[in-house]
Amino acid sequence: MQIRTKIAIQFTIIIAAILIIFSLAIYYTSENFRKQEFYNRMYDRGILTAKLLKELKITEKDKKKLRDANKTILTKLNAEKVLMFNDKNELVYGSYEADSILFSPEFLSQVRKRKYYETSDWENQAIGTMFVDEDKKSYVVFVTAQDKYGKEKLRNIVNTLIISFLIGISLTVVLGIIFAGQSLKPIAEMNQEITNITAYNLKRKLNTGNNKDEIAQLAINFNLMLARLEKSFELQKSFVSNASHELRTPLAAIKSEIQIALEQDRTIDEYKSILKSLLNDNQRLIQLTNGLLQLAKSESNDNSLVMKSTRIDEVLFKVQEEMLSLNANYEVLIDFEEIPDDDKWVSTLGNEALLLTVFNNLIDNACKYSKDFKAEVRIRFDEKNCSVAIKDNGIGIPENELSRIFEPFYRSQNVSKYRGHGIGLSICRRIIDMHRGKIEVKSEVGEGSTFEVILPHL
Ligand code: ADP
Repeated sequence: MQIRTKIAIQFTIIIAAILIIFSLAIYYTSENFRKQEFYNRMYDRGILTAKLLKELKITEKDKKKLRDANKTILTKLNAEKVLMFNDKNELVYGSYEADSILFSPEFLSQVRKRKYYETSDWENQAIGTMFVDEDKKSYVVFVTAQDKYGKEKLRNIVNTLIISFLIGISLTVVLGIIFAGQSLKPIAEMNQEITNITAYNLKRKLNTGNNKDEIAQLAINFNLMLARLEKSFELQKSFVSNASHELRTPLAAIKSEIQIALEQDRTIDEYKSILKSLLNDNQRLIQLTNGLLQLAKSESNDNSLVMKSTRIDEVLFKVQEEMLSLNANYEVLIDFEEIPDDDKWVSTLGNEALLLTVFNNLIDNACKYSKDFKAEVRIRFDEKNCSVAIKDNGIGIPENELSRIFEPFYRSQNVSKYRGHGIGLSICRRIIDMHRGKIEVKSEVGEGSTFEVILPHL
């Protein structure tokens, strides 16, 4: 079911319920008022008749005249019957002539007990009341009548209420559909705009209308999401082109080396040296593809990653050992600012293999970009975090490039003669993000750089 129809139906149900409640209230108040007014008129009629009978001392002969007068006067009620009984339950006056008038003594004693009594059935209303004459004699006056006029009026009210209800509901349905349609129009328009957005025109934005209401907010958020998607599409595109460019360079080098080697016959030593050079290029290729693979893995936000309590200092010592065994000229010094009393202060909830990658990259960079091939690692901790600063006295990074070195494939201007592909730091940042940590850098060209990794400890 369309939301428009749903809103119109809900709207109609609410209005119908309100109209029904009001109509019932009007009906019951009118009906009570009519009944009460008619009881009052019957009471007046009863008392008037009794007064005429007793105060004018109407004799038995005049009773017929009173009856006739009663029948003709204008204020006479419809189907009116007035009866009057004395304290012996004898009928002293009846406004109509009948062979016998049957009356229950039980009812008379009820009236005497309560002084006033009223009752009604579908057609008739009746009251019984006490009347005391000048001689202190008490009588029960009983009046019945039919409120034809009042009921007619009530029927009119009911008809008016039913017609108003039907008109009200029909109007509500029509207006409900129109208003719901109008309020949902911006959503329908937005839908239309969204269907026109594809992967090739992510630059298109939705109309944000008045920029204030909920629908405008939805459009604004949608536009922000489009912007994020566009950015990640662009990153993806540049990643693919950068990656293929990086892969092409060593492959082209290998190809030209082989072509040159094949141009003429070579000695065994020459072949050996060519093969060695090819092996080196091949090694570079393997390193590069491993780096790309790691980057792709870290981008995929793998939730299945095992995170467990990991000692940061132990990871650093492992990196130090591995690095020194592979690069005899490197020097890696590890130092604590303060000896931890508790292992928790230097432990984090992390993945050891990934943290090894981070520190391996940072320490390797520190040695690689320094003349003395030396990295100084300092471990610090406070109430919340454990941080590792990796300092070198190397070439440094130009200030205007500091914000870009974490982008995939970005390399600063001053490193062209150093090996590398510009992937390591982007991997580091992604891994540190996954550990809810931070990575910061301070550097001065010609003086050296300090990379600081801040991780929440246990
Ligand atoms: P790579 O070192 O392979 O080029 P990275 O992603 O590790 O890639 O580093 C990106 C860039 O950041 C480097 O090319 C270099 O310009 C700069 N950089 C990183 N570490 C240092 C450092 N310790 N000293 C100077 N420059 C650095």
